[in-house]
This record gives sequence, structure tokens and C-alpha cells, in this order.
Amino acid sequence: MTVRVFQVPSAKHYTGRAGQAVIALVHHRMVGTLAGTDITFTTGTRQASTNFGVGYDCGKIGHPKTPAGAHVHQYVAVDDAAWGNGNLDVSGQWDDLYGASPNPNYRTISIEHHDNGGAALGSGRGVVIEEVIAQSIELDQLLLSGDWLAWKAAGIRANTDAGGAAVSAQVQRIVPTPRTIVDHNFIAGKLKPYCWKPWSDDRIGFPQARYIAALTEETDVPTLTGYIPGQVAVVKATANIRSAPQLATATKIRAVLVGSTETWVVTGWVKGDIDPDGGSDQWLCRWAGGRWEYTAKSNITSLAPAVADCTAAEAAACSGGRVEGYTSGRTDGTSDERTRIRNVLGI
Ligand SMILES: [Zn+2]
Ligand SMILES: [Zn+2]
Repeated sequence: MTVRVFQVPSAKHYTGRAGQAVIALVHHRMVGTLAGTDITFTTGTRQASTNFGVGYDCGKIGHPKTPAGAHVHQYVAVDDAAWGNGNLDVSGQWDDLYGASPNPNYRTISIEHHDNGGAALGSGRGVVIEEVIAQSIELDQLLLSGDWLAWKAAGIRANTDAGGAAVSAQVQRIVPTPRTIVDHNFIAGKLKPYCWKPWSDDRIGFPQARYIAALTEETDVPTLTGYIPGQVAVVKATANIRSAPQLATATKIRAVLVGSTETWVVTGWVKGDIDPDGGSDQWLCRWAGGRWEYTAKSNITSLAPAVADCTAAEAAACSGGRVEGYTSGRTDGTSDERTRIRNVLGI
């Protein structure tokens, strides 16, 4: 599944975010349908909106129709604050953690969910179906990637490129926890007892633990072919820095400016597209700025010094498994970070 975002603009929002950074994603239930939410947010006088809504069967031409076509409507630009999270109450946890001011709308991205609230009791009333939850988790994953170009490619809108880039950089810094991946009740407490707590036929409510588990999982761990953490590489002028070891399909993050170089403290080599300049399929990668970066081998003018391989005892301590954290910093053979990176290789 991929994230499919369609624009359904709403005039109901604040302009901008009052200089506040986005620190949390807030999940709501519609007590209704995507089509009904479109009407509420884009017509009439009710002062309500969210940045996004996830649902199906919205009736709009060109949008997927079935539950399997669950998709996203964007009502409010990411660099504007929607009117979904403002009804703060002391019985919620938000004010205890973050204070009652400024208005949480400025500090959050809000997401509504189709829950078929009009269905008869016993017929799935209030249930957010699996397809909607899966699309919503993918939306959160995309948002937390902080990759503005990927946001745009999925159809997400900001008023300006600079605004979108700024908000995406803020969202990239969000660490998924029960304090950042929240439901509306977290803010509004007793004012919103069912958003999104168990209600009607929905006996579970917002599956927060599932979201956090999915958002914590790394989906872009490089498969290293050579492990050289701590070596310092000099990357030449005009080299392209990419989001994956691919020429055509990876996002180009930037190019090294003419007349300058970049100095990378690297993680290792990975196998990717064959670079026509050097004829090699090896790319260098590092963790920097909250993401993996790659550049083709032919862009490296030097790589030094050699770092001693791990000792037998260190190797024995690494029994394989997932990466839990990363560093591109110089390692001394005892740091946790080096151990974790070794775990990728299973050595
Ligand atoms: Zn709500
Ligand atoms: Zn639609």
C-alpha cells in the first residue's frame, strides 16, 4: 500500500502556525464518514477542521472507491494550523506535559478517521476498519520520514516549499511515544471521551501501541556490504547525495557545491546502481540529519584511516538482529552504536 493524498481544501484554519513547531500527531474518529467530514470541513459555519482525513468511499470522481482504496484527504496545508485540537481540558494530559498555551492546534498535525459512525449498532458502528488504520499508519510513517520531497510526491500540500520543508523537518524530530502519537482525548480529556477511545461497536479505540510499534520500526536500514564505521571520506564537488543507492529512483537530497567538498564520517558500503562514471555498484552511506545518505563510490576522493575490526569478544556479543540506533561518529570499539551497526551484518 502507498499513501494516496487528495486535496479537499478547507478555508477553516489558522494562517500559519504562530511560530510554533509541530511536536505531535493527533488522531481523531469522525463518528461518520469521509464524505460527511468533507461537507463539515468545507461548508457551513461549524468551526472544525483537521489537516488530514483517512477513509474510503468518499464519492469524489477519480478517488478510489472501496475500503481497499482507503485514502487521505488533505483539508488544511501542513504549514497552517487546523481547528481540530483546540478544545483543551485539564482532564486531558496535554496541558500537564506541554502547558495550556500556546493552542495545541499550532503544535500538532491532526488526522480524522472514517469510523462509519452512522451504521446501526451491531453493524460495525464506530469501527475504524483495518484498511483505514493501515493507510493511517502509512501516512504517519510518511510524515515522520520528514522527507518533504516524498510528502509532495504523495500529494501533500503546503502553502510554500519553504513552509513544507520547515514543518517536515520539525516532524522528523518527533520520536514516536505515547506522548507524541496521541488521540484527541489526550488533549481534550472529558470533553472528547470517545475520540478515539472505545465507542459503540469499537471495543479497542485508537490502537496507539500498534502505531508506535510500526513507527519505531526502521524501514530503510541499509544492507551493508562493507563495514567501515568511523572512516572519514572526502566527497568531491558536484557529487550528488541521494536518499538511496540508486540513480533514477532515489531522491537527490543535494549536490556538493562547486569549489567545495563534504567530509563524511561513514557507516559503510552498500550495493546499488552501477555508476556510469566509475563503473562500480558500490555506494558509501552514512547517518546524518536524521536520515541515511548515499553517494556513489566515484565521488569519494579519499577514505581514511582504517578502523580496526572488532575483537572476537565483541563479535561474540553481537548475535544479529535489528539496528536500534545509529551513529556516524568515530567509534572506539566499545560504543553501543558500533555494536548496533554490527548487528545489521550479523557478525
Ligand atoms: Zn476528535
Ligand atoms: Zn476521496
